[in-house]
Amino acid sequence: MGHIGHTGIGIGHTGIGHEGRPPSSTLGVYKPRRPQASPLYRLVQDHLHRLYTVYDERFAREYGPWRPVVTQVADRFLACGILEHGFARIRCDACAHEYLLAFSCKCRYFCPSCHAKRLALWAQWLDATLLASVPHRQVVLTIPKRLRAYCLYRRRLLGEIARVAARTVTAAIRTLTGERALAVGIVACLQTHGSRANWHPHLHLLVTDGGFRPDGTFVSWPVHDTARLTEAFRRAVLRLFVRRALFDEDAAAGMLTWPHSGFHVHTAVWVPEDDRAFATRLARYCARNPVALERLTYDRAAKAVTYRSDKAEGPTAGPETVDPLEFLARLLVHIPDKGHVTTRYYGWYANRPRGTRAKAAPAAADGPPAIVPASRLAPTEASRRWAALLRQIFEVDPLACPTCQGAMRIVAFITQAAVIAQILTHLRTRAATAAHADARSPPSTRAPARRSPARAPRPFAAPLTPP
Ligand SMILES: [Zn+2]
Ligand SMILES: [Zn+2]
Repeated sequence: MGHIGHTGIGIGHTGIGHEGRPPSSTLGVYKPRRPQASPLYRLVQDHLHRLYTVYDERFAREYGPWRPVVTQVADRFLACGILEHGFARIRCDACAHEYLLAFSCKCRYFCPSCHAKRLALWAQWLDATLLASVPHRQVVLTIPKRLRAYCLYRRRLLGEIARVAARTVTAAIRTLTGERALAVGIVACLQTHGSRANWHPHLHLLVTDGGFRPDGTFVSWPVHDTARLTEAFRRAVLRLFVRRALFDEDAAAGMLTWPHSGFHVHTAVWVPEDDRAFATRLARYCARNPVALERLTYDRAAKAVTYRSDKAEGPTAGPETVDPLEFLARLLVHIPDKGHVTTRYYGWYANRPRGTRAKAAPAAADGPPAIVPASRLAPTEASRRWAALLRQIFEVDPLACPTCQGAMRIVAFITQAAVIAQILTHLRTRAATAAHADARSPPSTRAPARRSPARAPRPFAAPLTPP
């Protein structure tokens, strides 16, 4: 069945399927998202087709060939949250309040709304299931410019670099503690964008700040030497490039002599074991969407896109204004290929050991290690977290009635074009009639905005009052 987005319109008591119920004067409206108003939506709508026609000539050299997945994602994004493409009817049985909730595209690393929902669910899973109650450290690893282009043409390469990075970090912890059997937990996020949504493949690792002995006790990462870690990472990556026949031995040896290697490792962000909120916030940052709507402006008339960097200083700080086609080409390159895994788990957090632990001791699986006392989740705490999750995903709880706070339920999924059109036409006619009646009523000092049924589905952004 379709996926529910958080664009909704209040339909109050439309009579659709519920004839005979008394009308209520307390019609609420589910908070609509209005996807068509977003600068990204308008940018894609205005320029996607033109970009496609000029892409080979103007952009293929810099961004690689046009990929079929890009067309699919862009098309689905243009339908995301738009009622015309289908919706669910949500109803409160207590007061008969209803609204429509549009389906969403579920596209990752492009649709800001769907990506954010995905991240909220993932963060919840990290907190509840994956992350051990030990300190963590964020490790960011970047590769030189010369190597980044390779990742564009071999999209699996960044995953291979992630494996190399995980091995390097694990080896560093084992070496520094002198314990060869330690299992280090690593969540690796493959990020392809820089602060200006530019092509900048790099890695964000969320690493247990130490490792687990076979008996489950945790040993801390004793000392952080980023220079040595960087050097180890650099050698491991260059070896990978030679093994994959992307470089020959001489080229790799030559790069090892560069005084500024272009490899960077950053390990300064530390997360205490009891700050789960920070850990999950950090994880969401590591896997964030390539484009942030709050930093994007699109001037349709001037045909200009301005994107503000998330860096406060350095060469990539500040806003940048570019041609819409250029910016769109830049964004589309971050859409992962179908089935491409962008988050990977290693060591203590790898799927297999996790399963093995669960089988060996179901009750103790993923429980806290010996050095940290168990933190049992009280039922009230569990429900508080669930409520927080729903708020994160939907901004408001989509299944709480805005009128009576009762529980709402999905009564139908509407996907047939003819039925969609029939329902929306009915609602728009009603809204137009209501707006017209409002406009004629004398006591108001300011004239209510007259709503045009042609500007669908905007008329439903405000509460509907029956005439
Ligand atoms: Zn979407
Ligand atoms: Zn209700």
